[in-house]
Amino acid sequence: MSTSAAIREAVEQAMPFAESLFDRLKANTADGAGVSREPYGPGEQYAHDLMAASARELELGVESDRAGNLYMTLPGRDRSLPAWITGSHLDSVPVGGNYDGAAGVIAGLAVLAAFRRHGFTPLRDVIVMGVRAEELGSWYGGNHQSHIGSRAALGVLPPAELQAARHSRSGRTLADQMRAAGFDPDAITNAAARLSPERCHGYLELHIEQGPVLEARGLPVGIVSGIRGSARARNARCIGAYSHSGAVPREYRSDAVLATAALCVGLDQAWSAVQCAGGDLVFTVGKLYTDGQQHSLTKVPGETWFSIDLRSQELATLEHMTRQARSLAEAIGRERRVRFDLGAFDLSPPATMDAVLRGALGAGAQALGIAAHEQPSGAGHDAQDFAQAGFRAGMIFVRNANGSHNPHEAMAMADFCLGTQLLAWMLLR
Ligand SMILES: [Zn+2]
Repeated sequence: MSTSAAIREAVEQAMPFAESLFDRLKANTADGAGVSREPYGPGEQYAHDLMAASARELELGVESDRAGNLYMTLPGRDRSLPAWITGSHLDSVPVGGNYDGAAGVIAGLAVLAAFRRHGFTPLRDVIVMGVRAEELGSWYGGNHQSHIGSRAALGVLPPAELQAARHSRSGRTLADQMRAAGFDPDAITNAAARLSPERCHGYLELHIEQGPVLEARGLPVGIVSGIRGSARARNARCIGAYSHSGAVPREYRSDAVLATAALCVGLDQAWSAVQCAGGDLVFTVGKLYTDGQQHSLTKVPGETWFSIDLRSQELATLEHMTRQARSLAEAIGRERRVRFDLGAFDLSPPATMDAVLRGALGAGAQALGIAAHEQPSGAGHDAQDFAQAGFRAGMIFVRNANGSHNPHEAMAMADFCLGTQLLAWMLLR
């Protein structure tokens, strides 16, 4: 039997094991129609305990770091070689889907189960990583970024963020939540990097696609070219003046809603221009509202609050668009007698996936007969933190209907099997 055929068969036989992990995860972290696996809460902990117990049954090495990330290791033939790391996060958004994140950890364990059962010993150590708190931003407010676990493991998490992050409902700091979960947040410092690029052959993350592209193109698997960075104004405002909607002529108004609408249209036109010039960009105003205590049918609106979310694979495009937003805000403010306060744009730079790994993933898909194509990732992933920290990083997307960050994610196990076969093919390299 050829290696490709042996990999295909071994991974196929590991699918009932993978499916039982998905089922147990869903049953034990269910919340309404979806799942809730809160960072450093009981749902995420259940996921970590389940993965660790399964890894022990496979006789893998099982360890955690100070931030609670999980490492499950199958020793390779030459333990002196830099290891493969594969994995993803085990937390979820509130009432999210069962596959976002977990698919990457379960794929890694399914590969190691297949290797164990069929007596494949990889050349180098393979570490399956269960990452903590990737989705922090959907549970916590305050001045912090998400991806807590991966940044802690890489030694690039500013400890101040653990105090700055406050739970949206309880107001509790992340540091306190970590303490309650049995971790010592003070031990997480910039110097405490658990992982280094020199000791890692590459970081591979399998993840469901969170957009509609694979579904629309009829492809089961995608190879990620890069992860879009973002520039975000989280709390932008437009300040005009409330006045009588009947009595005040156009030239005396300071209408915050029309000014904000003009800014949105201006940015939409700038987006279109970037696309026509061949650039990569998505632009969203996901929050836009007036003050429910003051607004009324018969008032010219005096104030709006809104957000701006710009994402691109090109840093220059993000910088261009933030300049556009500021100059448009100034011009529209003058013209319409309002003042915009956009606040700071949080910048998260784009991450390019490693060219060698992308090439190998393409060759692997071909060898295994898997229909795949290259595509950017619009959503953020732990892989971007690895890429930014100087690791070689690659990602495999698996087709998923109905989008993500909702309970209706739909990944077919047959597609998951193909993505996992490709992962296995890589991890034997
Ligand atoms: Zn995810």
